Amino acid sequence: MLKILADAGCRSVRALRTRRQSWLAGFANCDALRNLRCLAAALFVGASFVLRAAQPSAGAETAKWVDDNLPQLTELYVKLHQAPELSLQEVRTSELLAAELTALGAQVTRGLGGHGVVGTVENGPGKTVMVRADMDALPVVEATPVPYASKVKVKDGSGAEVGVMHACGHDIHMTCLVGTARYLIAHKDQWSGRLQILFQPAEERGAGAKAMLDDGLFKKLAKPDFALALHVDATLATGSVGCRAGYTLANVDSVDITVKGRGGHGAYPHTTVDPIVQAAQLILELQTIVSREISPTDPAVITVGAIRGGTKHNVIGDKCELQVTVRSFTDEVRSHLLAAIRRKALAVAAGARAPEPTIVVSEGTPAMYNDPALTGRLTPVLKKALGNEQVVDSEPSMGGEDFSEYGRAGVPIFMFRLGAVDGRRLARYREMKIEPPSLHSALFYPDPEGTISTGVIAMTASVLDLMAPDK
Ligand SMILES: [Zn+2]
Ligand SMILES: [Zn+2]
Repeated sequence: MLKILADAGCRSVRALRTRRQSWLAGFANCDALRNLRCLAAALFVGASFVLRAAQPSAGAETAKWVDDNLPQLTELYVKLHQAPELSLQEVRTSELLAAELTALGAQVTRGLGGHGVVGTVENGPGKTVMVRADMDALPVVEATPVPYASKVKVKDGSGAEVGVMHACGHDIHMTCLVGTARYLIAHKDQWSGRLQILFQPAEERGAGAKAMLDDGLFKKLAKPDFALALHVDATLATGSVGCRAGYTLANVDSVDITVKGRGGHGAYPHTTVDPIVQAAQLILELQTIVSREISPTDPAVITVGAIRGGTKHNVIGDKCELQVTVRSFTDEVRSHLLAAIRRKALAVAAGARAPEPTIVVSEGTPAMYNDPALTGRLTPVLKKALGNEQVVDSEPSMGGEDFSEYGRAGVPIFMFRLGAVDGRRLARYREMKIEPPSLHSALFYPDPEGTISTGVIAMTASVLDLMAPDK
């Protein structure tokens, strides 16, 4: 069985635990429901003394190895969490991971599609298996109660200062892949073939996988027989994973609409064409596309995530900008949504006697399709490694993931969901009738030890099955 961390003798992790406890003391008098930070803190109390919620029943050797190595992996996780980098800026993260792969003896290829890194390990005849983790973080100011919260601030593309946070758990993904690589390279007698350990940039922009493929990933290096990945799940308990064959994540398109007008004095609106009023009309019109044009049985989402227009109370500006995310599963619904957005935007402009808006569609990520045969093969492997009840059917979601691009490039792919929140903390959320903070929330934090150990055990078992020497 796995020991608790305090027994493992890792000074830094023990210090982390001590810091948690002293930090918690500071919250003893806080009115936990007064604000979200305090609420998060109250929930953190529940989880902080539970270092391992679930004890996976993996093969004894893997479990023991993970147990022995968890302090170092947790330390790596904390290091990555405290040094997040935005999409396309993953300079130090990729350096750190390339150094790790070099130290492990992998043949390292750097600079693929920007900051992409691949470590190749040749180990006799057999299949080529690629395991991928993403490296980028998000422009979010972390508001979690963890003592190792990110304090990083950088300038974004427009020059504005933004906080940076691993709010999508990519730091967990990297840590799990490093753990898997360390195990597999230390146990080369257990597998045969070619292992590709891939760290991908710019997943959050839907750009990194495509950039690596366009840069000749499968020409410079061998095209794999299978590709695997995991993604943390903010609603699934640590110790569990979620699997689903077929469509699991959505087509994702970003649409930038610039509504145009003719500016002037706010006191004389009749002499202007007001872009703010047009934008307000358009936002409401967009709501009717999904509710009135798409079949209720076909999943679709249109969200206006940002609106920027105007400078002052009494000035009518020349333009207003909208940023829209568009989600779907099928190609038919995807093209209907994009065409309808254009139609609505042109109609609102025509109705307001305004110039035509500019509409730019970008960052398209195709829907993710888990190869049914590969999913069917590995689901029982995960059940054997973690226990039947720890492997659940995951629901499809309207999130997006550019891991799908490797599938579109002709490789059978499988991504499973990794439970990231201690079961007792999830129960507290349920008791309090609130939703757990979602991925991308400033309040989202995984419980690292249980998440990492399950991730490494699950991914290692999957690779060992695909690369078993007799297969
Ligand atoms: Zn994300
Ligand atoms: Zn993500």
